[in-house]
Amino acid sequence: MTARLHIIGGGLAGSEAAWQAAESGVAVILHEMRPGRGTEAHQTEFLAELVCSNSFRSDDAMNNAVGLLHEEMRRSGSLVMRSADAHKLPAGGALAVDRHGFSAAITAALENHPLVTILREEVTALPAGGSVIVATGPLTSPHLGASIGTATGQDQLAFFDAIAPIVHRESIDFDIAWFQSRYDKEGPGGGVADYINLPLDEGQYKNFVAALLAGEKTDFKEWEKSTPYFEACLPIEVMAARGEQTLCFGPMKPVGLMDPRIGQRPHAVVQLRQDNALGSLWNMVGFQTKLKHAEQVRIFRTIPGLQNAQFARLGGLHRNTFINSPGLLDGQLRLKSRPHLRFAGQVTGVEGYVESAAIGLLAGRFAAAALLGTAVAAPPPTTAFGALLSHITGGADARTFQPMNVNFGLFPELPKSAKIRGKDRKQAMSARALLDLGAWLGEKAAAE
Ligand SMILES: Cc1cc2nc3c(=O)[nH]c(=O)nc-3n(C[C@H](O)[C@H](O)[C@H](O)COP(=O)(O)OP(=O)(O)OC[C@H]3O[C@@H](n4cnc5c(N)ncnc54)[C@H](O)[C@@H]3O)c2cc1C
Repeated sequence: MTARLHIIGGGLAGSEAAWQAAESGVAVILHEMRPGRGTEAHQTEFLAELVCSNSFRSDDAMNNAVGLLHEEMRRSGSLVMRSADAHKLPAGGALAVDRHGFSAAITAALENHPLVTILREEVTALPAGGSVIVATGPLTSPHLGASIGTATGQDQLAFFDAIAPIVHRESIDFDIAWFQSRYDKEGPGGGVADYINLPLDEGQYKNFVAALLAGEKTDFKEWEKSTPYFEACLPIEVMAARGEQTLCFGPMKPVGLMDPRIGQRPHAVVQLRQDNALGSLWNMVGFQTKLKHAEQVRIFRTIPGLQNAQFARLGGLHRNTFINSPGLLDGQLRLKSRPHLRFAGQVTGVEGYVESAAIGLLAGRFAAAALLGTAVAAPPPTTAFGALLSHITGGADARTFQPMNVNFGLFPELPKSAKIRGKDRKQAMSARALLDLGAWLGEKAAAE
């Protein structure tokens, strides 16, 4: 056996990658630093520990993108999904698991796999050669984080992540919203109408600021308190607390914009910037926040034009180590500048247990195929696997890239002629995904 794959990090992504590669016939060495060295969040020495909630979110494969991802993973022989199903708890339409049973099952499966060796050690620098998957997660140890920073040219690899909400374009009211770039100047997309604008009059603005100040905020965990904010990326409620008009001179400034309905400049404006290549997701510019999620939905829906907004992602703040994947990784999750290194899991800029494991599954398959001299094509972008992979390896804007859950906004639209909307649209996208996944899995079997 000459083909050896080193996987750094035995979390959700690293464990799934190890399983997939070993099941393909590749010998795997899995390096996990716990229990010798811990993180701020992990509590046990199990592989694939769930650091916070025990939920894998919706298990509805036909109406929910994460449920679809569950199903795609099941059909791809996922160890994470097998263990989750075996340790399922009652949770309505969600897939919740007994966290101890879940992680213990994954640990046992990998310990007992004849092709997997688990080394309990911290890797402090990126290996110069060999075939490697880096899956060290949002709490990557500082030494390795520094080494990844050097390899990727990112000086701020680990930082206090303030993320702004993302809205589904189809949920914005375009009787109120309009497209325009400030002063009609060329915007990031090269056009003069690159932003979606939402107007507030003086009364609406004052009420909005008051709501931000009164809104319930997420508490900092003790270990989070030592990490500072970046002045350039302050939460919106922190800016609002500096003075009632501060936002009017900051992210909500109206200069250079004209509301076509009233033919003049509004008192304040919320701008949204395109967030994915498909144009289905729009980022609320400067709206990073640590308001509680329910409060964000309640308060942001008071913005004219967002009264029915559906959020693909809500804002949040926590330490998060991730690389700027859209600029750095190729479609097989290899670091373009050092292709012997693949990245997987949350460190690639996906968000969530399931998404992290899914990217681990793909990285494990890609790496195993390369070591065995076979090729695996990337999954079609119409699948949940492919939509997520396309987003992190090119679909997202590298300048504003932030972690993302899987959602239907990442999928290519259905043909216009299909004229399918609402719930039916999700079901049609899911049906298309499972059909295309079948072909992809079949193709792979044929290639092997
Ligand atoms: C505080 C916190 C709470 C979260 N809560 C949720 C939640 O409730 N629901 C949700 O879906 N997602 C949550 N996430 C986001 C994310 O889904 C999880 O962090 C998920 O575990 C990511 O999977 P991963 O495999 O990429 O990383 P991890 O599961 O963190 O695995 C990384 C592994 O690498 C190891 N490691 C790190 N550095 C080294 C090194 N140098 N050498 C060897 N091993 C190393 C770590 O010990 C760890 O075992 C949370 C994240 C954080 C930070």
